[in-house]
Amino acid sequence: MPCQSNNELKALVKEAKICTKDGKVADYIPELGKAKPDDLSIAIHYPDGRCLSAGDIEKKITLQSISKVISLALVLMDRGPDDVFKHVGMEPTGDPFNSIVKLETMAPTKPLNPLINAGALVVTQMIKGDSVNERFQRLLAFIQELTNDSTIHYREEVARSEFETAHLNRALCYFLKQHKMMAENTDVEQLMDLYTKQCAIEMNCLDLARIGLVFAMDGVDPLSGKQIIPTDVARICKTFMVTCGMYNASGEFAIKIGIPAKSGVSGGIMGAVPGKFGIGIFGPALDEKGNSIAGIKLLELLSKNYKLSMF
Ligand code: GLN
Repeated sequence: MPCQSNNELKALVKEAKICTKDGKVADYIPELGKAKPDDLSIAIHYPDGRCLSAGDIEKKITLQSISKVISLALVLMDRGPDDVFKHVGMEPTGDPFNSIVKLETMAPTKPLNPLINAGALVVTQMIKGDSVNERFQRLLAFIQELTNDSTIHYREEVARSEFETAHLNRALCYFLKQHKMMAENTDVEQLMDLYTKQCAIEMNCLDLARIGLVFAMDGVDPLSGKQIIPTDVARICKTFMVTCGMYNASGEFAIKIGIPAKSGVSGGIMGAVPGKFGIGIFGPALDEKGNSIAGIKLLELLSKNYKLSMF
């Protein structure tokens, strides 16, 4: 069994923390710019309920792009893959997460995958419910079930801060509408409201590791024995985590680390080591592609030391 003690993890955190000085906290969402660049914490959640951790794991982080895998799982459960993949593709782009370029150069095309912003906006628009509030509450309830924590909520300041500045995401929506890849009657402001709340859902590393664990165990919460996500949906989500989960660094990440993972601009990373355990990381200093710089280093050390690559 890999990594048996908090002390082993602490040593890895100490080693990885050195590179936080080479990263930068995201500030295009002004509220995220308040994070402390040298923070680094990790939690590992095993199927038998044991948790290991290092760093300040009480600290809460907003999910940002990590939420895209979870909304994808919910929408796949709501509508089934055939319907969902009529509206969003399955291929990595090699472009930054917020890029519009493929939508234009390949127009008319559906967004290439559900983990870039264009694809995630289409997926969020597919969450079922009669109002923004009902749709958000369904997503939140799903996340509360995955974490077994009914207190999980979203951080209003972060949602508002992104809502006020999400010009690029609005542009993606209007571009998709123009090319009939998003329904003509889509209310972009309502979609922004839902999407920015989704991205602002906050939790600590332990909760994040617990969601990673459910994906690692093919959709089953090993602690309750309940199949929360159908096996097939968990498999699709994990595959996207490998091919697109770390933006346009996913190929290098697969080669060097080989763990299905999803990052967010707040500096979070959720990892799912198939059949073994879930990982939650928080390190807000980002590299030039928008991934937690020390978080990646930490995963690289973990993967090498404990031979975790799935390939
Ligand atoms: N809320 C962010 C955005 O849409 C999420 C992006 C990310 O985490 N990469 O810009």
